[in-house]
Amino acid sequence: MTEGIALDLAAAQADPDGFAALAERAGGTVFLHESDDGGLDPWTTAVWLAGRTEGVRIGLPGPVLTASPEMREKAYESLEILAGPRLAAQIQRREGIDYDSIPASLADVAIAPGDPRYRGRKSTYMRGGSPGLVFRPRTPAEVADALAFASRHRHLPFGVRSGGHGISGRSTNDGGLVIDVGAMNDVQVIDEPRRLVRVGPGATWKQVNAVLDKYDWAISSGDYGGVGVGGLATAGGIGLLSREHGLTIDNVRAVELVLADGTEVRASSDENQDLFWAVRGAGANFGVATAFELEASPVGEVGWAQLTLVSPDLEQSLKQYGEVARTAPRDTTVFFLTGPPRQGQSVVQMYGLVDSGDADTIVERLTPFAQTGLLAQQQVVVTRYADVMAQAADVGPGGHHGRGEPIARSGFLPVLTDAFARDAVELLRSGEVFFFQLRHMGGAIADTASDATAFAHRTPEFSVTALGNSHEGLDRAWDRLSHHFDGLYLSFETDLRPERLNDAFPPATLSRLRALKRGYDPTNLFRDNFNIDPEVQK
Ligand SMILES: Cc1cc2nc3c(=O)[nH]c(=O)nc-3n(C[C@H](O)[C@H](O)[C@H](O)COP(=O)(O)OP(=O)(O)OC[C@H]3O[C@@H](n4cnc5c(N)ncnc54)[C@H](O)[C@@H]3O)c2cc1C
Repeated sequence: MTEGIALDLAAAQADPDGFAALAERAGGTVFLHESDDGGLDPWTTAVWLAGRTEGVRIGLPGPVLTASPEMREKAYESLEILAGPRLAAQIQRREGIDYDSIPASLADVAIAPGDPRYRGRKSTYMRGGSPGLVFRPRTPAEVADALAFASRHRHLPFGVRSGGHGISGRSTNDGGLVIDVGAMNDVQVIDEPRRLVRVGPGATWKQVNAVLDKYDWAISSGDYGGVGVGGLATAGGIGLLSREHGLTIDNVRAVELVLADGTEVRASSDENQDLFWAVRGAGANFGVATAFELEASPVGEVGWAQLTLVSPDLEQSLKQYGEVARTAPRDTTVFFLTGPPRQGQSVVQMYGLVDSGDADTIVERLTPFAQTGLLAQQQVVVTRYADVMAQAADVGPGGHHGRGEPIARSGFLPVLTDAFARDAVELLRSGEVFFFQLRHMGGAIADTASDATAFAHRTPEFSVTALGNSHEGLDRAWDRLSHHFDGLYLSFETDLRPERLNDAFPPATLSRLRALKRGYDPTNLFRDNFNIDPEVQK
């Protein structure tokens, strides 16, 4: 039996300091119970008691009861900050998790609510979460043990996390399990003549490119150095070097994974070729990637540009940008970002890279982009790709503290037509979108055949993304544009309607993925990120 004292909340309210002193003298754990006499609820009282005295442990009657997940998140956070490890652990346990069966091999890396490490592991960069248990394995064997535990908890949400920058991905959840491979983050050059680099999934692209910079190399990644290798290198990777060196997945030469049944496998062009095909675009459905071998490209100095333009005619600016981007050489990549027009004017941010250290070339490449509106501000520097990636802040031991849910829609645009420019302006006028971005594709992305990887959309000119504040509002506005698109990029999509899978993968790709899923994950353990259901036969 656990020893402690039971607190009568009504009495405690009458003399809070006296009660805190009494609780301190008694020692042990103060169990807070709900009382019919009214007064403060036990969770509020816990915050109050924790703030008043550091001398007691606090027990609660169960998970925080509030009207909304956001409020629960906030209440937990306040309790953790004030009471932290002094909250009796068993009280914070979430329903449906057999905490007592955590294997000894994972005891050190199992992080439950109430653990001081929990606060930095529960949320991601963009999404607030409150999982019931986070495993942070350091080896493939520990990943296998964590997967065995997850297999015994199929009734719960289950996320896999590397860098925690997933927009679409369910790398956190409420009350479920997370396997976080963020600690597996080594970056090692393993074959210098072949520019081969072995990278852990938890490394960020900032860390990877900092190592490669010493060799005058870089690996095509996303545009933000804080993004993790695991999520990007299993989904696609559309970035500032993709037009010249392909998507991130095009530079992957081998992947090591732990499958749903705990088997450790290696996939490459000569081992498990079908798995290697699937992991490059649909990796989240097939296993936990524990290491990647990537081929770096020679990259020296680059021109890094940030332009701010004011456009009194966004439709015209979009059309001009489309024309300039379409005809740009492969060494040039410029992304287009805007929000709703204000008083008839749009502010357009363009940022991009010219893979050349020559100032004249950089100016020549960027000038046509700068002429698509009224240039209000510009910053162009000759720098290193690693320095562009280094602009992301380091994720320290405190981890991520995202809140709420991102709401995003994605579409691949085969050609930027006049009709698209007109409809895009309508979309922005709808008030449902606060962030509208075109990512410049083309070039080397199309050098890989569409059936060579599970990422099949090789020929669009742009990847288009919109962020909004309401699912219904954004879906309504975005669906009106859908006839312009051919496919979507799962990494920028949050719509969970099942038809999105058909947009992400053309029919032949999806049916091959389903067949492989039946072989590699027949019981559908990896189901939380745009699930390819093995039961579906079509
Ligand atoms: C600020 C920002 C900028 C971005 N810029 C770009 C960009 O320029 N180009 C681009 O292509 N994308 C970009 N993205 C999207 C990003 O690439 C994806 O969200 C990617 O999945 C993030 O990887 P992660 O490891 O950080 O994410 P996590 O949140 O850790 O993981 C996301 C999902 O990937 C899967 N996953 C993660 N780790 C593994 C693993 N080890 N094995 C198998 N599956 C795994 C899981 O299903 C998970 O839900 C950006 C996102 C943000 C937030």
